[in-house]
Amino acid sequence: MTSPAKSRQPGPRRAADPVLSFRHVGKTYDTFAAGTKHALNGVSFDVQRGQRIAIVGRSGSGKSTLLHLAAGIDVPSAGTISWSGRDMSALTERERTRVRRDNIGLVFQFFHLLSHLSVAENVCLPELIAGRRAASVGSRVMQLLQRVGLADRAKDAVDQLSGGEMQRVAICRALIRRPSLVLADEPTGNLDDTTGRAVMDLMFEMVEETGSTLLFVTHSQELAARADDIWTLHSGTLERS
Ligand code: ADP
Repeated sequence: MTSPAKSRQPGPRRAADPVLSFRHVGKTYDTFAAGTKHALNGVSFDVQRGQRIAIVGRSGSGKSTLLHLAAGIDVPSAGTISWSGRDMSALTERERTRVRRDNIGLVFQFFHLLSHLSVAENVCLPELIAGRRAASVGSRVMQLLQRVGLADRAKDAVDQLSGGEMQRVAICRALIRRPSLVLADEPTGNLDDTTGRAVMDLMFEMVEETGSTLLFVTHSQELAARADDIWTLHSGTLERS
């Protein structure tokens, strides 16, 4: 016989829930010059655990808006967004920030590293913000830096690094808390082709090693082709191939 504890619903986070869901999501911006701007219209999708999805589209088609909404940095004007089955709109801003910190790794085109901190301190930062002590995460920091070939640069200031090296540090920072979802906005947009390819190789490998799911925006058809699926935004509407 099934015990009452076993038959109980496990709560809002069920194993089969997609990592990220959009349902009829719209986003408008009110602008002084142009009135209401529709950046996203009726966007619906599920991202399943372990998937790697590329988002492509012209400049202004809504790619960054979609990533910001997926990260809970901004909220939709219409529709619902869920993280592992949890409706984001049911969370306060503070709760959203906490869920983001615990579950999402972010990688940006311009790295967004803190130039006054060392390489290791930048990687460590999400753990310190989450309340962990630097000593308790030191070995994980070094393990990640080793993985990207930068262990010998751990104590250097980040502004001494090349662009490709900075993005490798940013990837380590994004992965340090083993996020279920990594969101990357043009991660190679500021790098030359060869460096960009090498950075993406590392990102794909490390996301897989961490067991994370990856949603990334790119202009590069070559990089997009390496994803499991390519989704295209046309003026705020999502087309899935
Ligand atoms: P992409 O990342 O594909 O270049 P964005 O998501 O940045 O596109 O922008 C989509 C549309 O929304 C564009 O027309 C852009 O001008 C507009 N937009 C984006 N952010 C804002 C904002 N904060 N205020 C007003 N309009 C915005």
